[in-house]
Amino acid sequence: MSDSSIIIPRLQLVAWEITRGCNLFCAHCRAASDGVHYSGELTTGECFKVVDQIAEMGKPILILSGGEPLVRHDVYEIGRYAVGKGLRVVMGSNGTLLTSEVAARLKEIPLSRISVSLDFPTPELQDKFRGQKGAYEAAIAGIANARKAGIEIQINSTITKLNVTYLNDLLALAQSVGACAFHPFLLVPTGRGKGLESVALSPQEYEKTLNWIYDRKKELGDAIFFKPTCSPHFLRVTKQREKEERLSGMASKPEAAPGHLGGHPGGHHGGHPGGHPGMESITRGCLAGTGFAFISHRGDVQGCGYFNVSAGSVREKSFVDIWNNSELFNSLRDMDNYKGKCGICEYRKICGGCRARAYEETGDYLEGEPYCVYEPVASRQAVSGRHANGDSHSLGTNEVDKKLLNLIQSDFPLVREPYHTLGEKLGVSEDEVISRIKELKDKGFVRQISPVFDPRRLGYRSTLVAMEAPASRLEQAEQLLIDHPGVSHGYERDHKFNLWFTLAIPPAGEIAAELRKLSDSAGVETVLALPATRLFKIGTYFASDDEGIGSTGTQFDGALPVEAVLSDLDKKVINGMQQDLPLVREPFGMIAKQLGMSDEELLVQCRSLLERGIIRRFSAAVNHRRIGYTANAMTCWGVPSGKVDEAGKKIAALREVSHCYERRTNGSWPYNLFAMIHARDEETCRKIADSASRETGLASYVALFSTKEFKKTRIKYPV
Ligand code: SF4
Ligand code: SF4
Repeated sequence: MSDSSIIIPRLQLVAWEITRGCNLFCAHCRAASDGVHYSGELTTGECFKVVDQIAEMGKPILILSGGEPLVRHDVYEIGRYAVGKGLRVVMGSNGTLLTSEVAARLKEIPLSRISVSLDFPTPELQDKFRGQKGAYEAAIAGIANARKAGIEIQINSTITKLNVTYLNDLLALAQSVGACAFHPFLLVPTGRGKGLESVALSPQEYEKTLNWIYDRKKELGDAIFFKPTCSPHFLRVTKQREKEERLSGMASKPEAAPGHLGGHPGGHHGGHPGGHPGMESITRGCLAGTGFAFISHRGDVQGCGYFNVSAGSVREKSFVDIWNNSELFNSLRDMDNYKGKCGICEYRKICGGCRARAYEETGDYLEGEPYCVYEPVASRQAVSGRHANGDSHSLGTNEVDKKLLNLIQSDFPLVREPYHTLGEKLGVSEDEVISRIKELKDKGFVRQISPVFDPRRLGYRSTLVAMEAPASRLEQAEQLLIDHPGVSHGYERDHKFNLWFTLAIPPAGEIAAELRKLSDSAGVETVLALPATRLFKIGTYFASDDEGIGSTGTQFDGALPVEAVLSDLDKKVINGMQQDLPLVREPFGMIAKQLGMSDEELLVQCRSLLERGIIRRFSAAVNHRRIGYTANAMTCWGVPSGKVDEAGKKIAALREVSHCYERRTNGSWPYNLFAMIHARDEETCRKIADSASRETGLASYVALFSTKEFKKTRIKYPV
């Protein structure tokens, strides 16, 4: 990075912790405030000087924050001085000190908005969290006083496992108190919030919450300004969801550009009360050092209040100098400096990941965002490219890992404490099972653990699709398929039809129309839909030892599964279970809580779905290339209709065959019997195909080897 490449961005927002003192003792407090008096706070005179320097930079919004800013007696003077310098002044408060007299004095400044922190929708829960009886009622009364005085209200909520299920209630509360904005702030584990780390949402829960917010925000329209704060990847989720909706034809009106995520990348009582028209049009996730700065009670300037690295002190340098020249800010502004997955992510320009979380987790603020589940295309391609070249990333010699890998693919226990049960089978502790699975995931051997639903039983339509994509269109076509919510598997194969994928669409959709849309967008002319007409086998597990490939017992007599009748309870469980099983002692209990049911009820329902074939199996999806099965041949025969049943069943019985179907043919594709053969090399695949042909008396076949896996995921089937 050369210095000349750095463009100094416009300062748009400053959160200023004018005091660290506070009258409450909240569990999550960034300021780790433990009293009203703090030594070394900036004096009134110093505060005026800082305001002068901020005003030199233009007209950013100034958030007076804390601690609790209202415990500082000169807060009115500082506010008035800033307004006199042309700044828009807002405040982040716990609301409990907002008497009608205080509200009237704030209005005189004039203060245009106050953000009040409410983390629970009931007095009992809020008081416990805030560490003071009566805190909830006082905040509600404060809100009413502020509104009466003519000051806008914004509600901020710090979201953890403790209150994520109350999000909807908090939103309703914000609306009922007349707030113009609601900002859920997804916990950043720093300061006193570090003590809440154990109840921080997992990356998967985080992702789910962001998707829920996306849906709810769409439903709400303009009713209230609603955005998560300090969740930079909400912008990535927004982009992904919009793209999915465009592709599936579900998009309603185009969403406004996702603005900066409101709320408070600063003071613990609300930082920037977003909703300012100027702020809503900002299209970047994390503004630390790029549009936003935080000033601590002692004058240290930081990227934000959760990001405990100083860019310089206003007691030593002017704020202008720090903003323009600090090494910290300049390194944050050049995204080429970013490391880990954020450094190669195609969404980094709009997202960038949370630098505070990266810093807390790794000690390097330029590292990847630890709370993001997204795997950038570049890293996926690197992995599939390596695999296509035969680099199988050996599993090593650990026998426990090998057995564990086999067990979670073939016999995952549907019990309250599944990792404990697995530990008993393996002779290791529950904690060890959890940490081994985590490592297997980190190393890419295990993709996820979840139920495999039968799309046909859920009423979905599905087909195998072949495309003939010119080399110039290949990358664009693959990206479209990667982004498509209905594509679960996608491969490049060594054939004229070089792109093969599976497509599932909701009951009301039409495969032909969806394929027309996809081929138009990809600029591909020849597309074949090859839907199944008979099913002989689906589902195997890939043994990580010398046993080879094993069956999970899902072999069929040829008949295709038909749509099941689903009760409301079925639907609730089907929708709720479409996630990676959390790596905690009682993972089903955690999901059950999200669904408002007991873990036993959830497990009973899961077993029932399994028995009815709606869930095909509950198992880990593994990257079979990583465990050594580097060759897979889609082998296809042209079989007379009278012989299909016999041949299909024989071929399906082979251990090395994971899938076997009869499919519809057409003028361009005369082969009707398909079997997916896996082995450790191509030669073995061919030998198996030759022997299958001999055994069944079938003539020649075509074997299409995959040269690249560009997508493999368990897609979601909402019902
Ligand atoms: S680093 Fe960025 S995203 Fe993270 S808390 Fe600070 S402002 Fe928010
Ligand atoms: S990998 Fe980083 S830049 Fe990409 S979406 Fe996740 S947090 Fe954002």
